[in-house]
Amino acid sequence: MNKTRMTILVLLLFGAFFSSNSTTAAVWEEDIIGIGKGWETEVYIYDTKKEGPSVLLVGGVHGDEPAGALAIKELLPELTIDIGKLVVVPEANKQALELDLRYPPGAEDLNRAFVDKEPESWTEKLAKEIYQLIEKHNIDFVFDLHEARDYYRINPDSVGQTIIFNGQGEEIFLAWDIADKINPLLFPIERFIILSPTARDSLTRRAHEELGLTTFIIETTRKQDLDVRIKQQKMVVLSALKLLGLKEDLKLEDLDLFRSH
Ligand SMILES: [Zn+2]
Repeated sequence: MNKTRMTILVLLLFGAFFSSNSTTAAVWEEDIIGIGKGWETEVYIYDTKKEGPSVLLVGGVHGDEPAGALAIKELLPELTIDIGKLVVVPEANKQALELDLRYPPGAEDLNRAFVDKEPESWTEKLAKEIYQLIEKHNIDFVFDLHEARDYYRINPDSVGQTIIFNGQGEEIFLAWDIADKINPLLFPIERFIILSPTARDSLTRRAHEELGLTTFIIETTRKQDLDVRIKQQKMVVLSALKLLGLKEDLKLEDLDLFRSH
């Protein structure tokens, strides 16, 4: 190959590199926290590198509340966003999910382990790794998907069908905006009520108190069939991403697809 042809080839390759680079859409990247420690779990990151909010979405903090984890896993291929960044932990406490228990025997409640001290137990270490995702990815909003045993609406000892927020300022209105979008699609008893704040030493409470983030817990009610709860969790997640401007292509009418009955 002569020198001129070689130069042209190099220029063509360079051109292909730059043009493909400029048009390539973001892709899911996978990270794993706690590798080899018995509590490792996957983290999925979708970074558009376009200015916009960064959102942390967590499921499976409590093992007997499976709807959030299942909703996230089923939705993941559709959770590609247009701006900002999405960081997803589908199964925060895998051991608890496998046992279908809030937390494994002898362990602690993961959602009371987001403590401001050096971690001792494996649960506190797992909590710390999840919490560190907030600073690592410059997170603005946290959504943590949970379930409760009963409807708050008829039994205020439980928090089923609620959105519980920590925050101040206009960002908290997101909780009411989500409810306004999806409640018309739900039976009256299923409609989400807004509460505040979340429990002390939970992921959402600490992220708000220490870092000033606006954070939300979504609670479905285990008295409903699992497939209904999964649909409700999906509706909340998609509504939130749409309302935050991360997912422009989603039409809220599409939420009808996830109507619970
Ligand atoms: Zn929970």
